Amino acid sequence: MPYAIDETHDQNLMSWVESANDPKNDFPIQNLPWCQVFLDDEDQCVVTAVRIGNSLVLVDVLAYAGLLDEANSGEFSAVDACDEQPFEDRAKIRKQLSKLLSKDCSDLRDNAELRQHAIIELDEKDLVIPFFPGDYTDFYASLFHATNVGSMFRPDNPLLPNYKHIPIGYHGRASSIVQSGTSIKRPVGQQAPTEEGGSPGFGPCKLLDYEMEMGVIVGRGNELGEPISIENAEEHMLGMCILNDWSARDLQKWEYVPLGPFLAKNFASTVSPYIVTMEALAPFRCAAQERDAGDPQPLAYMESDANRKAGGIDIKVEVYLASAKMRDEGMEPVHLSTANFKDMYWTLAQMLTHHSVNGCNLQAGDLLGSGTISGPTREARGSMLELTWDGDPFANPPVPAPGTQRTPIVLPTGEERKFIADGDEVIMKAYCEREGYRRIGFGECRGIIEPARTL
Ligand code: MN
Repeated sequence: MPYAIDETHDQNLMSWVESANDPKNDFPIQNLPWCQVFLDDEDQCVVTAVRIGNSLVLVDVLAYAGLLDEANSGEFSAVDACDEQPFEDRAKIRKQLSKLLSKDCSDLRDNAELRQHAIIELDEKDLVIPFFPGDYTDFYASLFHATNVGSMFRPDNPLLPNYKHIPIGYHGRASSIVQSGTSIKRPVGQQAPTEEGGSPGFGPCKLLDYEMEMGVIVGRGNELGEPISIENAEEHMLGMCILNDWSARDLQKWEYVPLGPFLAKNFASTVSPYIVTMEALAPFRCAAQERDAGDPQPLAYMESDANRKAGGIDIKVEVYLASAKMRDEGMEPVHLSTANFKDMYWTLAQMLTHHSVNGCNLQAGDLLGSGTISGPTREARGSMLELTWDGDPFANPPVPAPGTQRTPIVLPTGEERKFIADGDEVIMKAYCEREGYRRIGFGECRGIIEPARTL
């Protein structure tokens, strides 16, 4: 694994940015995620920053002041910093930032004028999408999710024969990837005919859903025709963010045969505003999900010792929902689910390797979605489609999949939900915890659903 645990992960490391030392803050000095911020000053531009505590550090100001290695200065963007520089420099930048922000380092702490330019108070509304997405691919890497969904549509044959051999994915749409906080218009589209041979319905989506996913941002691409090997796959990743792959289930059900999702998915996908780097995630690596004895092993091009031992990442992911009425009445969002990214059947390295095995060129800034993160229990289901479904193929004894029979979620206001209603806000959180290390978080990925445009 190219990501080593070093002094930047020391749990005792504290910062002179006081808010970073609050154990509840997602952004201690051990995290240092990248983001892009719109500066609403005379320059009116977007610049790259690193978040620490409740502040943002403007990286190019530090570079200009000579506090970062000359090799690392110049036009900074989180992605450029990774794409255009030797891989090893990423760890170097992290070490330099960590040192500058640590309690005992006076270079920035005691330079009031520089600090005034380099450190700004966070206003989340000024954050923009943290990378410039060129392409977007979404995978389907949770066996639990695939089995749940497959059981609804094909009770006798939930998993198609390719599932355990190929990381299944589809090409999504990069233009509709939006920043957390962007409100989403309910999509309009075609729905399956209610009787065989009938005409399809048309109108606002009736079964609107979210999908709790993590995204990996490609840091360095590959040449067309030159696949990325599993041994090198990790070095091509820059970092991760939370991803909400909004899904119109009724549109999806009608259109997905035979070429997969199309308009059911591409109306919007929301990302959280920070790229938590692969370096920051080093302490939270874990073994890849162990396959059942009867499962096929991946083909050799997707197998390596390092991937088996540390290809997984222990990230807790949580989903919350607040209806408009709940917000009006000052109620806290209600918790819907908690799952863990380490339960994915395929690792990020396998997805990236498989994506390029045919010679497809990935590019810096590409977003690869993991697919909905679900676990073996009902509380760990990462979409409404699964949460409100009465079947449970993982229960012991298994509950036979009764078609698509559903029990609604009851909100504290008494409102009921089988899918998402207009005015609902979906809030996703993710964080890493491990004994002996500081907890680090990904911030939040939020979106409110607005009514469909009038037809
Ligand atoms: Mn998805």
